[in-house]
Amino acid sequence: MTEYPDHQGGPTRALLEQMIACASVTPEDAGCSQLISNALTPLGFSCEHFDAGGVHNTWLRIGNRAPLFVFAGHTDVVPPGPLERWTSPPFEPTERDGLLYGRGAADMKSGLCAMVTATRRFLEREKLDGSIAFLLTSDEEGPARHGTRHVMQQLLARDVRPDFAVVGEASSVEALGDRIMIGRRGSLNLRLRVDGRQGHVAYPHRVDNPIHRISRAMAELANEHWDDGDDDFPPTTFQVSNLNAGTGATNVVPGSAEALCNFRHSPVTSATTLMARSERIIAKHCPDYIAEWSVSGDPFVTQRGSLTRAASEAIRSVTGLIPEFSTGGGTSDARFITPAGTQVIEIGPINASIHQIDEHVRVADLDPLARIYEDVLRRLIAG
Ligand SMILES: [Zn+2]
Repeated sequence: MTEYPDHQGGPTRALLEQMIACASVTPEDAGCSQLISNALTPLGFSCEHFDAGGVHNTWLRIGNRAPLFVFAGHTDVVPPGPLERWTSPPFEPTERDGLLYGRGAADMKSGLCAMVTATRRFLEREKLDGSIAFLLTSDEEGPARHGTRHVMQQLLARDVRPDFAVVGEASSVEALGDRIMIGRRGSLNLRLRVDGRQGHVAYPHRVDNPIHRISRAMAELANEHWDDGDDDFPPTTFQVSNLNAGTGATNVVPGSAEALCNFRHSPVTSATTLMARSERIIAKHCPDYIAEWSVSGDPFVTQRGSLTRAASEAIRSVTGLIPEFSTGGGTSDARFITPAGTQVIEIGPINASIHQIDEHVRVADLDPLARIYEDVLRRLIAG
């Protein structure tokens, strides 16, 4: 393992380079969690696996007492996309102009590696008054059925309830620590099929055009004012992502039309309410429809308390910034941890390049990120 001085990323960078070299495309872990276990078990962590459905999950813990502080994250990454568009190969960590490139560099292998550095330094310097655990999964970027959700079910069955959790997702926008996530909006999907009557375009009295009907319904849903949001959440939004109909011929009105839609909503309007209000609108325009609903995440928010305060102070002491608290962005595994009554936040590097070609992390942010995590530990579980 190469050694780096702290201003070039220190031990976090050295571990991160090894992690990026593991091609852990969902649901593969590709040896990543083993690298983290190898770093933590010599410090006294016990290691357990909660594998399910082909997904590799790891639970590492030191200490038996409360409070239980959990570092949580995923080792899997999204597919690299067309290799020829990458400036350097996605699974060969490469530094250019102060940036370390590779798939997973920002989302979220740098977060995991900084957590390892933070934990080692904390245990070297402080007396542990509580417990530290790592919850690692390789099923976050995919269906997320057998990952964090499964591990939390197993832990709750043993009555293990984390008090605090920090997820290492890339939460920062322009500078490390400028934003932390304290919750996420809910995500609700609709697959809508509208049936009409097929026929020749020249004989409109013999057809019932489902495209016209579904368009009117979509337009009204898109213009609807759902709510005003609240202190933590922006107003609920609706988007159509797919609209399919037609036979390919110019002279045929099709018999049905289908749309895929998504709501991102605050707790102000529940999924049940959104479904009922939407169906009232749809039924006005479409007498014959089938609506299939699926919830891909309920909205959640962490109460402001000891964890948000510790995170804010840690970020200020390391970077000088006061972080914004946000609930924006997509869903994250934090949604599976909050139901245990755990305070959960997300702190990680700048997210501008996540899921993109040439994903990268700023080398100069790696050691400060580890110092932020270490400072959070010190404020919550130092003896
Ligand atoms: Zn992620």
